[in-house]
Amino acid sequence: MTDRVFPALQTPDLPVLGQTAVFPVRRIFCVGRNYVDHAREMGSEVDREAPFYFTKSAFALARSGQVLPYPPGTENYHHEVELVIAIGAPAFRIAAAQAMSVIHGYAVGLDMTRRDLQSALKDQQRPWDLAKDVENSAVIGTITPAAGFTPAGQAIRLGVNGVIRQDGQVSDMVWRTADLICHLSGYYHLQPGDLIMTGTPAGVGPVSPGDDILAEIDGLEPVTLSIGAAE
Ligand code: MN
Repeated sequence: MTDRVFPALQTPDLPVLGQTAVFPVRRIFCVGRNYVDHAREMGSEVDREAPFYFTKSAFALARSGQVLPYPPGTENYHHEVELVIAIGAPAFRIAAAQAMSVIHGYAVGLDMTRRDLQSALKDQQRPWDLAKDVENSAVIGTITPAAGFTPAGQAIRLGVNGVIRQDGQVSDMVWRTADLICHLSGYYHLQPGDLIMTGTPAGVGPVSPGDDILAEIDGLEPVTLSIGAAE
């Protein structure tokens, strides 16, 4: 066996509904501006020519049901509820008509964002990494196998301390599940373990230490997150 200068990190993983086996996570791709009303609240429009992406490290992954600290370096940490696609088979330059066949399942996810830094980075025309690739910022729930869910008109909503803030429908996504896999597979050899966070509806907003977040998509397992003290 190869010696290592320190023990290899364990691959982050997610639970799968109805199974003891977990889903090892490889890469986390995130779609920007995929709901018209959210793009507008950010002062933009959805690009109808092509979707765009940013990424989070797999080590930004956190499971549902935890208290996670308010992160350093921000005074405006925002929630974004999203449908997450879990890829279960290789896909490279796959046609949209075949794209649904490579999906292992779906989950609810939170794309937590340092909004103040994102706004500044946009103004400076700099990359979004400090705003988006935040430790513990990809909070993702139990994966429901694809046989048990098909994206359609399901409600997608998020509440903070019991007050609804985001309330949309999965069918409001401009770039649909098959479109996204088809497009992204033109740039990457998608592999089992890759996740795609598909964008958020309107109503994003700040959270504070002590807040309890509930994120839901009808037909999928909900995600809860409690915001702990600032680090
Ligand atoms: Mn997002």
